[in-house]
Amino acid sequence: MKFQKEKTLVLLKPDAVQRNLIGEIIGRFERVGLKIIAMKFVVPTKDQAFKHYVKNDAEIVALGNRSIEGKKKSGIEVKEDPKTLGQQIIDRLVRFLSSGPVVAFVLEGNQAISITRKLVGSTEPLQSAVGTVRGDYTIDSYTLADNDNRAVRNLIHASSSQFDSGYEIDVWFKPEEIYSYNNVRDRILYDVNLDNIND
Ligand code: GDP
Repeated sequence: MKFQKEKTLVLLKPDAVQRNLIGEIIGRFERVGLKIIAMKFVVPTKDQAFKHYVKNDAEIVALGNRSIEGKKKSGIEVKEDPKTLGQQIIDRLVRFLSSGPVVAFVLEGNQAISITRKLVGSTEPLQSAVGTVRGDYTIDSYTLADNDNRAVRNLIHASSSQFDSGYEIDVWFKPEEIYSYNNVRDRILYDVNLDNIND
């Protein structure tokens, strides 16, 4: 069967850079078998950060709804409606993402979007499983972040769907900055004839 080749956009947010976790985190994606096909170190503008998070008008309400779901899981009561909450989170995220250098990269591989999300872990570090980037490397919570009127510092962003990855890759990279290349490891991961490697 042909493998399901996907690309996904990852951002190491300013907290990951400030905590010298770039190598640790990128190593996890390399080790699992994903291929880096584009990469840059950049201080995002506010416009770029906004464009990244707000893909369309419905996105603000959708973000508010995701946050409400997450908060319910943490037993937090939510008073704001989804739109107000979504707008508040966007404002905080834009401020945070544009506050310093981030590492942006594109990963490629079999079902890269869901594999990457699995390694990243759930949004709130308090809830993210041990073994995930967010579960292993940080300790923030919605309560702490909201109390301080800031975004949750959860180190990393990864696209959550094929539509999002296409959109987000365009926000961060020009087509000529993305390199399609063969990697020697591709053979052991995907080659259907590997059973005959010794023939
Ligand atoms: P992700 O795909 O796991 O990053 O989650 P979302 O797309 O739902 O949220 C985007 C980002 O918004 C998260 O990574 C958090 O940094 C931030 N965020 C989400 N929900 C909340 C919240 O309730 N409070 C605060 N302060 N930040 C939030």
